[in-house]
Amino acid sequence: MRSCKLYANVCIFLNVKCLKRILLNATIGGKEVLSMNFDQRTVTCGQLRGADAGKTVVLNGWVHRDRNHGALHFINLRDRYGITQVVVDDDASPELQKVASELRMEYCIAVTGIVRLRPDNMINHDMPTGEIEVKAQKISILSKCATLPFMIDSENAANEDLRLKYRFLDLRSSGMQDRIRLRHEFIKAIREYLYTEGFYEIETPTLIRSTPEGARDFLVPSRKYPGKFYALPQSPQLYKQLLMVGGFDKYFQIARCYRDEDARGDRQLEFTQLDVEMSFVKRDDVLSLMERLFGHVFKEVMNYELPAHFRRIDYYDAMNTYGCDKPDLRFGCEIKDVSDLVQKSTFEAYKTILANKGYVKAICAPKTEGFDFTRKYLDEIAATAKVYGAQFVPFLKVGANNALSGSAAKFFVGMESEVCSFMGAKEGDVILMVAHENWKKCCASAGAVRSKLGKDLGIIRPGFEFCWIVDFPLFEYNEEEGHWEAAHHMFSMPQAKYIDTLEQNPGEVRGDLYDMVVNGYECASGSIRIHDVDLQKRIFRICNFSDEEGEKKFGFLLNAFKFGPPPHGGIAPGIDRMVMIMSEQSSIKEVIAFPKNSFAVSPMDDCPNDVDQKQLDELHLIIKKDEEK
Ligand code: ASP
Repeated sequence: MRSCKLYANVCIFLNVKCLKRILLNATIGGKEVLSMNFDQRTVTCGQLRGADAGKTVVLNGWVHRDRNHGALHFINLRDRYGITQVVVDDDASPELQKVASELRMEYCIAVTGIVRLRPDNMINHDMPTGEIEVKAQKISILSKCATLPFMIDSENAANEDLRLKYRFLDLRSSGMQDRIRLRHEFIKAIREYLYTEGFYEIETPTLIRSTPEGARDFLVPSRKYPGKFYALPQSPQLYKQLLMVGGFDKYFQIARCYRDEDARGDRQLEFTQLDVEMSFVKRDDVLSLMERLFGHVFKEVMNYELPAHFRRIDYYDAMNTYGCDKPDLRFGCEIKDVSDLVQKSTFEAYKTILANKGYVKAICAPKTEGFDFTRKYLDEIAATAKVYGAQFVPFLKVGANNALSGSAAKFFVGMESEVCSFMGAKEGDVILMVAHENWKKCCASAGAVRSKLGKDLGIIRPGFEFCWIVDFPLFEYNEEEGHWEAAHHMFSMPQAKYIDTLEQNPGEVRGDLYDMVVNGYECASGSIRIHDVDLQKRIFRICNFSDEEGEKKFGFLLNAFKFGPPPHGGIAPGIDRMVMIMSEQSSIKEVIAFPKNSFAVSPMDDCPNDVDQKQLDELHLIIKKDEEK
């Protein structure tokens, strides 16, 4: 610390030129300081082209690769913009040769040199800067790099925890650099577009009151008010509705949301969504805004043309045809109900399921060059379906002239042509069947088989297929707790025709609810909202909230609804998920700069972690030991 002060004092008395020379050799606290001052870049590592030959330039960056051919040194210098080849010729000064020989991977350096054209046979057409190289005249080491835990390649093959522990290094890989750039451009294009449509970007608080919104809240203890807590928002839902009451009819926010959920699939405790709310709108206004927005963004960021309108699919049709409410429309293999065929067959086990008000569905897997439906593969299919409830997957192999073979063939003797024509099956196709007494389980089992076929047969088209799933049921029955609950959240509007009779059969009520689905992922959910106190209270009651409890937890919203609330609705596309799809990744961790691992831990800073007793005392918290829990 003292040496630093001394150094600062010395600086004041020296002129800048003299300072530069001294600084390169400065020592602080006895340690050599490699470069306190440095030659600042005049160009980036992705910038130079043939036309720049002859220019003297300064580059700053990291040693990506370093090849040494005797006294001839090739250094691939990298920064966020690209890679430039730097050459230390064999006629370079001994000092320059010495620095070049000291370079190691990921050293941060400054290079001054002259741009020259590469000989024709050395041009690298794979690199934007491949026409040129920089003949180094001076190299300064700005900082050294310790032994690398992994190579900085385009994609990092190291295990996830190692990547996350050294995320600052992992971020240097071209894969991560590209994805973080894409994410930036995506958000930028969203902002720009929404500004042109007259939206205000408004922040809402991240310390809010805990309100049940579906998942578990993260709680923040209040130091000032012992025993009281703030919560981190699961989404800005109620605030955006209050902004509508506040007269800001077109709102958006790139909002961070927090949900204290168990590690499940590809989830993060915190994620980012584009939160949107609009007043005086009906469903189609929200959907068409999103179509315009994503049309613009995909064109701008990926030069990809989306259709002006995305297909709209009724929730029940989606479940029946694709086995899920987030269908991947990039391939066929649509699911068909084969109850009538089964009734006419001798398939007694399935007929019993039908007699018990169950369902039988089938998928026709197309003949695919080089793919064989082996016994082993059919077992895999059966195992996939079983996870969702179907006990087995009988199959029919279609031969010449509709001849059927396979485990279910004996039940359809004499019906071969009818079966093939109903399923649209041709020679070489395979028909797979699933059944269950429960409609959702039957759909989900068939859906899982369909997804597996799509991937394994390699029949998924490249590109992006958007659709809307609309008219979802408003309520779901919570079997464990024995009551109805909101399928989306409690602020969504029931469709008009159900409003008078909501309480009679909540399971039948459809909501003004919509999801935007892309390539088999749910990428956004939204709804037209309730803006009427009495209707809101009825929904609370159906979801097992007494008037008292509703008042206690949501009194502020009900109060606001007494003051001329406008009709309103909105949506919230997930930013992480969208960027993941655009960059063809399968985990949102690949598009988040500093994600947690699958155990909700950050290996880099070891979070979550203990806090000092003093901090706990200030927050009036006592940690229960395991045995006290
Ligand atoms: N707040 C909702 C969510 O986060 C989205 C919405 O209804 O706008 O899922």
